[in-house]
Amino acid sequence: MAATYDAIVIGGGHNGLVAAAYLARAGARTVVLESRYKTGGAATTESPWPEAPEFRVTRLSYVMSLMPPTIINDLKLASHGYKVYPMGPYYQAFPEGGSIKLYADDAKRNYESVSKWSKKDAEVMPAWDAWLAGLADVLGPMLLTPPPNIGSRKPRDLAGTLRLAWRHRGLKVRTIADATRLMTMSIADLLDDWFESSQVKGALAVNGVIGTWAGPYEPGTAYVMAHHSIGDVGDGHLGNWGFQEGGMGAVSDAIEAAARGFGVEVKLNAPVSQVLVENGKAVGVALENGEEIRAGTVVSTLHPRTAFLDHVGEKNLPADFARDIKTWKTRSGVVKINLALSELPNFTADPGTDLAEHHTGSVEMAPSMEFIERAFLDAREGKPAVRPFSDGVIPTAFDKTLCPDGTHIMSLFTQWVPADWNTEPHTSELEAYADRMIELYDEVAPNFKASILHRDVVGPYQMEQEYGLVGGNIFHGELSLEQLFHMRPAPGYADYRTPISGLYYGSSATHAGGGVCGIPGWQAARAALADRKVSKSAKGQRAAG
Ligand SMILES: Cc1cc2nc3c(=O)[nH]c(=O)nc-3n(C[C@H](O)[C@H](O)[C@H](O)COP(=O)(O)OP(=O)(O)OC[C@H]3O[C@@H](n4cnc5c(N)ncnc54)[C@H](O)[C@@H]3O)c2cc1C
Repeated sequence: MAATYDAIVIGGGHNGLVAAAYLARAGARTVVLESRYKTGGAATTESPWPEAPEFRVTRLSYVMSLMPPTIINDLKLASHGYKVYPMGPYYQAFPEGGSIKLYADDAKRNYESVSKWSKKDAEVMPAWDAWLAGLADVLGPMLLTPPPNIGSRKPRDLAGTLRLAWRHRGLKVRTIADATRLMTMSIADLLDDWFESSQVKGALAVNGVIGTWAGPYEPGTAYVMAHHSIGDVGDGHLGNWGFQEGGMGAVSDAIEAAARGFGVEVKLNAPVSQVLVENGKAVGVALENGEEIRAGTVVSTLHPRTAFLDHVGEKNLPADFARDIKTWKTRSGVVKINLALSELPNFTADPGTDLAEHHTGSVEMAPSMEFIERAFLDAREGKPAVRPFSDGVIPTAFDKTLCPDGTHIMSLFTQWVPADWNTEPHTSELEAYADRMIELYDEVAPNFKASILHRDVVGPYQMEQEYGLVGGNIFHGELSLEQLFHMRPAPGYADYRTPISGLYYGSSATHAGGGVCGIPGWQAARAALADRKVSKSAKGQRAAG
């Protein structure tokens, strides 16, 4: 006899755990099936060095920002260990000497720092911050709203489109123009319109290309910057970017603890091989070991290719939808480098190995837009970047739980290697790439290389094989314009439902993903619960009639 539940969640990443928690909170007997030995997916804390288990790293994702207060409060995550230290300033030391710091919320210090490079840019900075905040106020709340099914004539979809239009009736011509610019422009063109100094432009360009298979001169990268800069999703202000105590795995652990508190069962080492479909309806799943588990509601939180093409099968899907998933763009060229350090970097521009403010935020290696662009062009030409860029952080500036006293963890999120490096391990080339990345930091902080005790290099192949991130894309799919909003993951299916009745979809490849925000998992659970309510009341009416 197959085991039976009310709901099955495929994938124990943070979105799967959020979906399960909400389903169980509403009374559904829910099981999470996770293929790995632990939950968390890309939000994971691990000890990659068997010889030094006392060092723990946030192996893939590394900073929090987009999780809405609604989820944090509903699931009481703080009582389960959710604790985020706000990050310090953005910091870049330049090989030619000097440094820049940018503060998220300190206009006076921003002025002092930027005016060293350009007085004009320092004066423009408050207007830029206000412009961005204005746009974020429009875009943020949209992240919490399922996109309308644009083009559909069904009454429910037409009502959704009209509701969205009504909600934005107050928008001015100028705001709509600015949002259009943001959606269509490159981050380079946008920054050229505002700033003159290469130091400021380099600093602000990084957020436009994080996790993206596009250099700063590609259209659409301005939006990626905005996605990473949103501070309010409509249910309260989010913190600035911050470090979770215990690493990103502790976010997943907190969600898992909440889910278990509502009665969720979590099965580890339980890879799903198939979604069971009978008469166009999902009725359960089959595991790789042949076991079957049945439920009337199935939520998948895996990469769309795995969830739909592998698990549901093309023959069960509408042809248009299957084509959309087959052509889904899922490249990144990201390499994550995790380091254990014997001491903090001693920057020539800001000397000292004692903890200082410039160690507490982003410790970047992206000195100019041209530098970032060159790294992308190398990868697009088919070779790993000769001089990669890095979004670096040292979480142990705050978090003392990750490594022994006196030592530190540094996490380098770097780009790019060629898009097809997900198909082969490229081990020795990745090590050479990491050497070059480390050299770049060593140029501005000459104790850097010698301070490295251990290093862990995770490239696209490992991300795909070990974590299920197909193509090595960090968000289960690129944040390019044709894959956003009502097109994420496919036109007609941006409401967290799928062509298969009873199957819901809540991975980072849906609207509001990616990032460790939990919104896709939350929305998928809400869609499933809303449909259950409708079908229960229909059954009730039939019985009464
Ligand atoms: C290198 C890197 C850096 C990043 N940095 C940040 C950051 O700093 N901040 C941020 O907000 N976001 C960041 N992201 C993005 C963010 O981590 C992801 O968008 C998010 O964690 C994805 O969550 P998810 O639950 O949708 O999917 P996943 O985390 O991918 O979870 C899916 C789960 O399904 C499991 N699974 C796969 N196949 C099967 C199967 N057949 N059966 C059962 N289970 C299966 C996987 O093991 C995994 O646990 C980063 C991602 C990467 C890779």
